[in-house]
Amino acid sequence: MRLSRAFIPTLKETPSEAQIVSHRLMLRAGLVRQHTAGIYNWLPMGARVLKNIEQIVREEQNDAGAQEIIMPTIQSGELWKESGRYDDYGPEMLRIKDRHDRDMLYGPTHEEVVTDIFRNNVLSYKDLPMNLYQIHWKFRDEVRPRFGVMRGREFLMKDAYSFDLTFEAAKHSYNQMFVAYLRTFARMGLKAIPMKADPGPIGGDMSHEFIVLAETGESAVYCHSAFLEKPIPLVVDYNSDLQEFVDIWTRDYAATDEEHDQAISKELGDKMIEARGIEVGHIFYFGQKYSDPMGAKVAGPDGEMVTPYMGSYGIGVSRLVGAIVEACHDDYGIIWPDTVAPYRVGLINLKVGAEETDKVCDKLYKDFSEGGLSALYDDRNERAGVKFSNMDLLGMPWQVIVGPKGLKNGTVELKRRATGERQELSLESVMSKLTAHHNAEKQSGAGG
Ligand code: ATP
Ligand code: MG
Repeated sequence: MRLSRAFIPTLKETPSEAQIVSHRLMLRAGLVRQHTAGIYNWLPMGARVLKNIEQIVREEQNDAGAQEIIMPTIQSGELWKESGRYDDYGPEMLRIKDRHDRDMLYGPTHEEVVTDIFRNNVLSYKDLPMNLYQIHWKFRDEVRPRFGVMRGREFLMKDAYSFDLTFEAAKHSYNQMFVAYLRTFARMGLKAIPMKADPGPIGGDMSHEFIVLAETGESAVYCHSAFLEKPIPLVVDYNSDLQEFVDIWTRDYAATDEEHDQAISKELGDKMIEARGIEVGHIFYFGQKYSDPMGAKVAGPDGEMVTPYMGSYGIGVSRLVGAIVEACHDDYGIIWPDTVAPYRVGLINLKVGAEETDKVCDKLYKDFSEGGLSALYDDRNERAGVKFSNMDLLGMPWQVIVGPKGLKNGTVELKRRATGERQELSLESVMSKLTAHHNAEKQSGAGG
């Protein structure tokens, strides 16, 4: 994309309505604009990042054996009366009447809808295990929408729902999602700590929240310092018994529930880290809570009817954009991890209109796109200082700077946004270096 043609409305001033750094930077870098309280427009840069995150989530869900569906955003209230949640859910649910005076709602979550799909279409245990997911917009009328997309009213979520014949099988489905989540967040350059969460009335220990540490996070975090050092898993066979793997990751205590505070500090002593974090995902086993009242049943192996055991698994896709900016920025702007960046490369032409710099930039721009490296090309007639600070604000992981001085020696400058490290390189080495980096990342998958 040529910056002269791009719709990236950046702001020089710090927007006064934004309380935390990620919200400020997302506004300043032109990613989002508020439509009304807690509801956002995603402008081109924001939309690109959101799509990249969505794609990583999708690949990891597919790898773990889940199947993508799309459920409606507007749901029938009748289903929620069956599960008993229509009256329980409270004012976070946006209730709507259609023209026939029927109760409708904008979905805050989809357990009822997916259980309805299941009961109408799945008849035999042979179809299990089954895990269905979608990446779709939710609406929750939060009392206090805040921190930009971090706590919105309309937000993008990945929600998956597993169905199993037995508790043991459901536990395996849960473990698969546990592993998939670690991989998903690692691929985005995040270390998300799985914390025991309040399992609610079902009991047991099958509920974990995944927390990215950040000072501005809304969740209190208590965990063993070992969590911060644990390496992210590389390759995992989803069909193997994952229990041992999950045990390793949950053996050291980590919890968000403040009630645990006392107990943990006694147990862990000076190994305990007390911090704040952002909840980017939540996995949850709830057994027959919805399948039972909604009458979802399959024929079991010996003909008897069995009520399936379920779990649900959420990832805050739009919240992740904020969480990543919160974790990856400096005083100059955003520092996108390579895998989610709106463009891989920011190409800066220091002398627009000069034959040599224009020619080299055009060639690099073409080579980048042919090599699968998306580039944002600053071809505007602006001062160098303006271009540098703008590119730093936008946060592309690599910058390639082309000026007449370097070209005299046949070189351009390659800058790594994260470290500020700069190198003078020939055109060929710039291409090969960036391509090599890109390929290494593709190969390393979740480990990268
Ligand atoms: P929270 O405690 O932050 O309100 P929750 O427990 O209500 O989250 P879930 O129902 O488990 O969240 O939803 C799954 C994921 O969706 C959460 O882990 C979070 O990342 C994201 N999410 C939840 N509410 C919002 C919101 N209002 N805005 C953006 N993302 C959200
Ligand atoms: Mg909530």
